[in-house]
Amino acid sequence: MKSYQADQNGYYGEFGGAYIPEILHKCVKELQTTYLKVLESEEFKKEFDQLLEDYVGRPSPLYLANRLSTKYGCKIYLKREDLNHTGAHKINNTIGQILLARKMGKTRIIAETGAGQHGVATATVCALMNMACVVYMGKTDVARQHINVQKMKMLGAEVRPVTSGNMTLKDATNEAIRDWCCNPADTYYIIGSTVGPHPYPDMVARLQSVISAEIKKQLLAKEGRDYPDYLIACVGGGSNAAGTIYHYLDNEKVKIVLAEAGGLGIDSGQSAATIQLGKVGILHGTKSLVMQSEDGQIEEPYSISAGLDYPGIGPMHAHLATTGRATILAVNDDEALQAAFELTQLEGIIPALESAHAIGALSKINFKPTDVVVLTLSGRGDKDMDTYIKVMS
Ligand SMILES: *Cc1c(COP(=O)(O)O)cnc(C)c1O
Repeated sequence: MKSYQADQNGYYGEFGGAYIPEILHKCVKELQTTYLKVLESEEFKKEFDQLLEDYVGRPSPLYLANRLSTKYGCKIYLKREDLNHTGAHKINNTIGQILLARKMGKTRIIAETGAGQHGVATATVCALMNMACVVYMGKTDVARQHINVQKMKMLGAEVRPVTSGNMTLKDATNEAIRDWCCNPADTYYIIGSTVGPHPYPDMVARLQSVISAEIKKQLLAKEGRDYPDYLIACVGGGSNAAGTIYHYLDNEKVKIVLAEAGGLGIDSGQSAATIQLGKVGILHGTKSLVMQSEDGQIEEPYSISAGLDYPGIGPMHAHLATTGRATILAVNDDEALQAAFELTQLEGIIPALESAHAIGALSKINFKPTDVVVLTLSGRGDKDMDTYIKVMS
């Protein structure tokens, strides 16, 4: 029935699956056979919903952005994930996964992080649940994301700098997988986006789907119908987008627009527009679109936004793009920066650079005055102030 959802083996069309080393087979299999039982149990739902309400601050508001709407000639609502505890949507997922880890009897949590946002969200829930936490982070990123490293340490996590490869996110992910291979019995790996081997993409999408569940209720109250004409979100690995569109995938009246990071331009060689530049390949346990050279070496992506420069994309999104269900727009660094200042000046909201890519997509769409648009503001801009300050000076 739900054609755009994962099938039993975690495939979205030709994308997805679980391509993992032999040694992790048992662990991943255990997760595959457990996750749905737990996520659909009353006990889990009750605790998850309670924490989302009291700890994260959900439901997040659906805010009618009047001045932004006037500018683009339609009705634009912002889904305010930036107001969540820790400043982004990532906490929805880490809370869900740590509850699952505890249920599975795991005592040690590992995670990978690029910009440090997922690392902070993981360290946060580990403090909350009193679990040991190791976060792998490329050495380059450790230097670039000083404050997030200090936050993780203050929260009690051990941050392990990774010195292989380019010392960024993909290398940190490799190292986390290596750790998991060595400690499969007691360790749970919290992946931060809709990527990785099955069941992660589906699991993360389900945990983030609270976003679209809320949008439905909030739109019904505000507009008298529970669906918009457009849904817009930025995509790194794809989790805030997956959460935004989850309950609308099969409603073809809803147009889905995904904004990926164009970097300096898709043809510049300095880009993270994975869907448009990627070719079918396997990265971190899943078959998807991957930025790679002729001989299959992973290419280092580039974007001004640290949360969007991943060389892969979730299998769900690869499928939505190749089937034409979603429209993919590349938004370049300069366009995202301009959009961040525009939102700040029109609405008094300083967005994360990632979210600014979604705002930057607005000028590339021809709206009708009657169109109702919901755009997910995935995070707040505190972490990006250094970049914004450079632009102002
Ligand atoms: C991590 C991050 C993203 C990108 O990740 P997705 O899995 O694609 O959502 C987007 N926005 C913010 C604020 C982030 O922290």
